[in-house]
Amino acid sequence: MGLGFAIIGSGPAAFYTAAALVEAAPDCSIDIIERLPTPFGLIRYGVAPDHEHTKNVMKAYTRTALSPQVRFFGNVEIGANVSLDELRGMYDAVVLAVGAARDRPLGVPGDDKSGVIGSASFVGWYNGHPDFTDLAPNLATKGVVIVGQGNVAIDIARVLVKTPAEMARFDLCDHAAAAIDASPVEDVYMVGRRGPVEAKFTNVELREMGHLENANPVVDASQLPASADGEMSDRDRRMKEKNLASLRGFAETPPDAAKRKRVHFSFYAAPVEVLGGAKVEGIRFERTRVEGGNAVGTGAFFEIPCGLVIAAIGYRSAPVKDTPFDVRQGIVKNDDGRVAPGLYAVGWIKRWPTGVIGTNKVDGEHCAKQIVADLAAGAKPGRTAFETLLRQRRVRAISFKDWQAIEQAEIANARPGAPRRKFPRVADMLAVLGEARAEAS
Ligand code: NAP
Repeated sequence: MGLGFAIIGSGPAAFYTAAALVEAAPDCSIDIIERLPTPFGLIRYGVAPDHEHTKNVMKAYTRTALSPQVRFFGNVEIGANVSLDELRGMYDAVVLAVGAARDRPLGVPGDDKSGVIGSASFVGWYNGHPDFTDLAPNLATKGVVIVGQGNVAIDIARVLVKTPAEMARFDLCDHAAAAIDASPVEDVYMVGRRGPVEAKFTNVELREMGHLENANPVVDASQLPASADGEMSDRDRRMKEKNLASLRGFAETPPDAAKRKRVHFSFYAAPVEVLGGAKVEGIRFERTRVEGGNAVGTGAFFEIPCGLVIAAIGYRSAPVKDTPFDVRQGIVKNDDGRVAPGLYAVGWIKRWPTGVIGTNKVDGEHCAKQIVADLAAGAKPGRTAFETLLRQRRVRAISFKDWQAIEQAEIANARPGAPRRKFPRVADMLAVLGEARAEAS
């Protein structure tokens, strides 16, 4: 009997693992199980709308989904519709590829005020993730502070200041486009607790900030070191030098007076308190210096008035029931991907939310090798048992063909020139299939 695998999650790590398993064990069957009716996880809901080219990988994932060995089961939630232990009883191997969908708390007094939002929620909101459609971030403010200086922070800053014309060719959701266009936001502050050399954003993303139609990048030249010193690989040093050159360029270029908005790159400042009553009115920072790579407080403080604080300080994974979880790191406890006999982890739930999309390809190939090395022949009923269980529990799983019907409707609904108009609610996706009531079952 061929081996039967279940992969939980349908983002990059899931699809790269499935593709590698198809290669490594051609007579296997692979079921990709996803909570939402839509596949592709972070590609659909994490990549910035104006980075459409990054989403081209969906074409390769679609080819994998259409392989004879692979089946997609969307709208099926582990824990609610089927337990992990039940899946482990049915499949020869189960792979956790659920990513890191949660926000990390800012962890300073006042971080529970209305108007403090994590980047996973904010990015989910503008990308039409059904969990965040009703987020309603406070954009009735002139100032927004983004804590963190990674690529997610830069994505958010860019989306906040781009004009409707700049976003017209993309799939920014209607609710987010309307709120951003109506917003009086003028100043977006991207604040890092360490310096320009330690900032995590990459150079292509940084350079984009110099080409915005209605926003000037603002950099204080006195915060820029002459060169990227310290211990790092040659490759990293080249990247850091490029970042310094771009930041220097921003600092030296006189602001274009015709541009109404500003994105401030502010370094050496750690958040210490979110200010205001029930709602955010500002945020206090302590000036830092970098010692041995760490941010150390100097005892000097300053405040930035704002009505919205977005903590773009990295994502974390949610604990998966029935698995050992490392709460401190926010990952499933694993030995290079092996969690327990027949249970594996790949991608961000295995190793922490870092790296580019392609990093998950390496992960997926590694996981497939481990599975094939660990298992000889299939011993469990796999898909047949899973489908029986879904029928018994009256769970209406969404097939890949169903998803393609939803996708076609999104393409047909798109604004002229835009790739798609996402349905930001599950009910609307299911309505496309003529089954709005299935959501309740
Ligand atoms: P990230 O790259 O890890 O950046 C997190 C930022 O938050 C860092 O500046 C970090 O500073 C800061 N931070 C963390 N904890 C903090 C705290 N308690 N107080 C203040 N600052 C804090 O995470 P990310 O931006 O969420 O990105 C996740 C991954 O997705 C990355 O690998 C990223 O490159 C990737 N990504 C790529 C793209 C793209 O290629 N265009 C787009 C989006 C995301 P320290 O360095 O001091 O810890």
